[in-house]
Amino acid sequence: MRHVTILGAGLTGPLLALYLARRGYHVDLYEQRPDFRVHGFVGGRSINLALSDRGIRGLHEARVEEEVMKDAIPMKGRMVHGLDGSLQLQPYSRTGRHINSISRGGLNITLTNASEHHEDVKFHFDLACVDVDLERKQIKLRHTGTGEEIVRDVDLLFAADGANSSLRQAMERKIDGFTARTEWLSHGYKELEIPPGPNGEFLIEKNALHIWPHHDFMMIALPNPDATFTCTLFAPMEGENGFDQIKTDDDVRAYFEKYFPDALPLMPTLIEDWHNNPTSQLGTLYCGPWHVDDWACLIGDAAHAIVPFYGQGMNAGFEDCRVLNDVLDDHGDEDWGAILQEFYLRRKRNTDAIAQLAVSNFLEMRSKVVDEKFLRKKKIDAALADMFPDRWAPLYEMVTFSHLPYADALGQGKQQDDLLEQVGYDQVEAAIAEGMEKVEEVLFAVSK
Ligand SMILES: Cc1cc2nc3c(=O)[nH]c(=O)nc-3n(C[C@H](O)[C@H](O)[C@H](O)COP(=O)(O)OP(=O)(O)OC[C@H]3O[C@@H](n4cnc5c(N)ncnc54)[C@H](O)[C@@H]3O)c2cc1C
Repeated sequence: MRHVTILGAGLTGPLLALYLARRGYHVDLYEQRPDFRVHGFVGGRSINLALSDRGIRGLHEARVEEEVMKDAIPMKGRMVHGLDGSLQLQPYSRTGRHINSISRGGLNITLTNASEHHEDVKFHFDLACVDVDLERKQIKLRHTGTGEEIVRDVDLLFAADGANSSLRQAMERKIDGFTARTEWLSHGYKELEIPPGPNGEFLIEKNALHIWPHHDFMMIALPNPDATFTCTLFAPMEGENGFDQIKTDDDVRAYFEKYFPDALPLMPTLIEDWHNNPTSQLGTLYCGPWHVDDWACLIGDAAHAIVPFYGQGMNAGFEDCRVLNDVLDDHGDEDWGAILQEFYLRRKRNTDAIAQLAVSNFLEMRSKVVDEKFLRKKKIDAALADMFPDRWAPLYEMVTFSHLPYADALGQGKQQDDLLEQVGYDQVEAAIAEGMEKVEEVLFAVSK
């Protein structure tokens, strides 16, 4: 059986190690950070993520779901905050399904402990991969404390080392026909915090993902088990209402007074957080093919980093691990050239689709959630899905609560949208009011 080396112990790396160890592989995993179970996470902040069905299935099939879900906080819908202090809960599903807020640090520790529990998995911290020699099949590692460099031969290499993957950089330099490009958004983000109330209580609705939409920018907040909320402001890097316009403490206060008046009183550390936390950029990475022959492969963000607006980046990384495992089930563990190619083919069209969906969901979150037409369409979508559950599904539900390949969800969503536009909302609403037969006649007859 081949010996596996994994670069990166973020979210994808340890789950991949777990899958492969369960199949009997010996795995060495190299991570540039110190062991976060001992040293904590940089900044020590509780940053959280939305975990949904695809990610949960990836965890479930590696038998680590139960442990992870202990600390999950269900979020039933988007709580949209108006400038006038109004609140509107927009449920994520018609049937009460929800997404989950989960601590990135807690999840990282659970996955690391679960995979290290296997005697065949070894973690090596403080070692950054600084080069991959594609001819010699070697990785060069640098100790982040001492600077000492070591070289290791690799047999089968997976790079789960995130958006700046060292393997991908080597592939860009050396592999003919390998292409990679990052499309940067003109928006960036900054993380802020709403602490608990005086009695340790949540100060805004616990079981929701909060959004303050402002068309060209927005803030969101996700709950943590300690009753804090991690808020993320997404705004243009430059120009009107952009990060470069907010320089002084007074600028920060004035911005929040104007646009987030109900959140400001709940954010006593706003000024400190503003200055202490970085403003980071967001981009989408497209690259391919993801593998070098039968011995090296990109996975997770290293292969397909996306913007966070569908809450799917980590979910897609976990789905990668599950699909690779499926490919191994289908092909057996022998022909790794064919396995890696099949994995790439099964995933690429889907990760391209979620990349596209994630960019368009930014517009939905920051603007459309308060748009009349959008809300009307949501109602139509819900009514049609209730009437024809096998033929109609809201796009958000297909992406978030199903395992339909992302590309198929995107395709079906587009077909549905085109059909509604073609027939017209007025006609469809009138048909829905009359019942299923009328909808058949007005809507589905058109699509034949
Ligand atoms: C603001 C924001 C919000 C997000 N929200 C969500 C969400 O709600 N839901 C969701 O599903 N996804 C979300 N994502 C996306 C999610 O964070 C990523 O998709 C996920 O972290 C990818 O996991 P990964 O393990 O592939 O990469 P990473 O998490 O980036 O992990 C890479 C690991 O490799 C290590 N590493 C890097 N380089 C080297 C090297 N040269 N040598 C050794 N080790 C190395 C790093 O230290 C790190 O531990 C969000 C992303 C952002 C930026």
